[in-house]
Amino acid sequence: MDLKTANRVLCILYACILISAVLAAVLQVPLLLFLALGLCAALVTVSLRFFRCPHCGQHLGRTYSAYCPHCGERLP
Ligand SMILES: [Zn+2]
Repeated sequence: MDLKTANRVLCILYACILISAVLAAVLQVPLLLFLALGLCAALVTVSLRFFRCPHCGQHLGRTYSAYCPHCGERLP
């Protein structure tokens, strides 16, 4: 998975977690809370594995900028 795809997947996971957590709170359905927790685990896994600089391989942290904070190369 390349960096752009990983960024899109992370955005989708963030949105799904937010929706699941809000629905769990509003509808009082515990299953949605477990779904949100599972999505959080998937988000951490995708972030740690794929949200890396294609040049140096270092994790990019929580923010996505135009340049790698570790090696300074331009990110796609
Ligand atoms: Zn880098």
